This record gives sequence, C-alpha cells and structure tokens, in this order.
Amino acid sequence: MSEDRFETLAIHAGQDPDPTTGAAVVPIYATSTYVQQAPGVHKGYEYSRTDNPTRTALQTQIAALEGVDLGADGGCIATASGLAATALIGYLLEPGDRIVLPDDAYGGTFRLIAQVLSRHGIKWTAADLTTAEGIAKALTPDTKLVWVETPTNPLLRVVDIAMIAEAAKSVGAMTVVDNTFATPYLQQPLSLGADMVVHSATKYLGGHSDTVGGAIVTNDAGLLEQLRYLQNATGPIPGPFDSYLVLRGIKTLGVRMDRHCTNAAAITDFLVNDPRVEHVWYPGLATDPGHATASLQMSGYGGMVSFTPVGGLAAANALVTRTRLFFLAESLGGVESLIEVPASMTHLSVEGTDLEVPESLVRLSVGIEHVDDLISDLDRALG
Ligand SMILES: *Cc1c(COP(=O)(O)O)cnc(C)c1O
Repeated sequence: MSEDRFETLAIHAGQDPDPTTGAAVVPIYATSTYVQQAPGVHKGYEYSRTDNPTRTALQTQIAALEGVDLGADGGCIATASGLAATALIGYLLEPGDRIVLPDDAYGGTFRLIAQVLSRHGIKWTAADLTTAEGIAKALTPDTKLVWVETPTNPLLRVVDIAMIAEAAKSVGAMTVVDNTFATPYLQQPLSLGADMVVHSATKYLGGHSDTVGGAIVTNDAGLLEQLRYLQNATGPIPGPFDSYLVLRGIKTLGVRMDRHCTNAAAITDFLVNDPRVEHVWYPGLATDPGHATASLQMSGYGGMVSFTPVGGLAAANALVTRTRLFFLAESLGGVESLIEVPASMTHLSVEGTDLEVPESLVRLSVGIEHVDDLISDLDRALG
C-alpha cells in the first residue's frame, strides 16, 4: 500500500472489501458491543467507545494521507470534533506546563486553552509564530507544546513549520500543527518535523458541511498510545455514521482541493483588481508576506481568502447579506461557498485580546461551484 499515491490512498487505505460480505464500501457498523467467543477472546473489537470498524477505516485512511508509515507505529485517532482532538492533546499536559499558540489562532482553540485548560493549571502565551524572533521570545523552559496553525484563521498568515518544530525541540516542547486549512493534500506537517497533526474533519476532510468531526495524527507510538488511552478514558469519539461521512468525503479530497485552489486564486485576482476592495489576504499572492514559505511547504495555496472592503464595517455587513451563492455562515471547507465577518461571528471570543482581527474583515470559504458564477455573485454584492 505504501507505494500508492495520495489519490489512491484516499480511496483504498483502510478500505479493503468487507471480509464477511464483500461489500466494496466500508459498512456503517452501527453496534455498541461485539460478541466474544470466550471471555476476552474476540475479533479485535469489544466496545465501540474503544474501537469501531468504521472508525478504524477512517483512522487508517487519514493516517495514510498524512504520510504515516502504516507498517510502523504511527497512526490516527478520529474524534468527535476538531476541538475534541485539541482537548485530548490538552490532557497530555500537567499543571504548570505552558502552551505557546499563534496570536491569530482559531477562536475555539484560543477559548479552550485560555478559558478551560487554564483552569487546570495550564499556562499559555500567544505569540507571533511567523518569525524566528517571535517564537524565540515566546519559548520558556516550561513550554511543553507549541500550537501551530498554517495558514492561520482568518488572516491566512503562513508559519514555517520546520523552523517552529526545530525551535520547540530545542526547549523539549512538542509541536502540534492544526492542518485543517491546508489538508494533507497541500501540506504534510509530520514530514516537516511536527509531532502531531490536528484536524477539524468538519471542514475540508468531510468536505460537504454535513458532519462534525476531528482527528489527531502522529508518527510517535508512545503519543498514539497515550492519546488512545485518553480518548477511551474520556469518551470524545465520532459515531459510526459520522465516521462514514468523513471517510466518504475524503475519497474526493484531492479533486476538491484542486478546484478550491483554482477558484480561490481566480477570486483573489478579481478582488485585488477591484477598487471597492481595500486589502486582500491570500498566501498565493506574490505580494503576500507568507508567499515564499507557503510556496516551499505547500503544494497549493488553499481555498480560503480574506479581505476588507472599502467602507469599513458597514460595507462588510452589507456585502455579506447581499451574496446569493456565498452563504452567510460560520465554518468552511465544504463544496458550497461561504462568507462571514470573523470579528462578529467566529472570533467573538477573542475580542479585546491580542488575537482580535479587523472588524471589517470578510472571510471567504471558496467552494467548488463554477468560478464565474462566484465572481458575479461577489461583483453584484460589492454594490
Ligand atoms: C473548525 C476549526 C477547528 C475546530 O473544529 P470543530 O470540528 O469545529 O470542533 C479547529 N481549528 C480550525 C482551524 C478550524 O477551522
């Protein structure tokens, strides 16, 4: 299997025909328990909080796509949501340990660390991880985890994963990369030195805005075992139907990401040349500060584009209610295009902190509709 390429692994890794029926598609194993031949003698499954075959297939698929050597000890843990994955990683830490996170982290990640993990004695520092000075200043001897998002949400800053992983290692800290925006199709953080990859499978992996899920991937057998223990002990698992939806979504990840990337590039081109637009953030722009690093560590620039319209917050609020194809909604990564104002929607929890974003910032999750229709929609809505 390991010589197979990405698109092939997406369809075949973990997805052998069902051994009992020959079903070509992994069944939804809707069962909580498994019959044992004698006490403790069974076919590898005992209880579905611990393991379920639909979830196992999904885990093998995601691990293969993140470049884990399936013959070795690494692997994936599928979780109930992206934040469930983040919480499990939080349980690895002890009171007094510190997490360094980006100063424009996903709002929910920031809330979990600053409001919940902090109550259990975990300390945190928000820092600019886009520069070597930024990470050097933030790292302290008590730092156990450096949390990386790249591209970041919603400002699409690019973080040099190899540079951060090396800096983190120098103080004995682990590096976690939230790979939700890039997906393993565009970026494989484990190969750049990261210890763990986290996903909100709700987004591009699932890809159809019809389920919530998450995942953690690692090449480290010890970490995998601890995380499996913690998941079984605390319970944040995806059900078999949700596992199936993500498994099915991922089969088309490569073709979807190709289209997300080309559509986003064309929309960026439209926006930068439009006088009604003040500033555009997209790592594919040659003028973007993250362009050089993105070009080195990514094989494409993704489907997320942010911009500020001329006219400030009033213009942004008017724009997002006028689009027809771009739905005004939170979330991202689905086949349908979405538009939102992060400061008043997804990033409310970071208001007044270091992580605050411009109030008139508009974030697009560019879908895979015909790009001319999407551009017409924005053109009309800009008024
Ligand atoms: C959505 C998201 C999360 C959280 O995932 P859920 O599935 O909503 O729990 C984490 N990180 C990023 C970058 C996200 O976009």
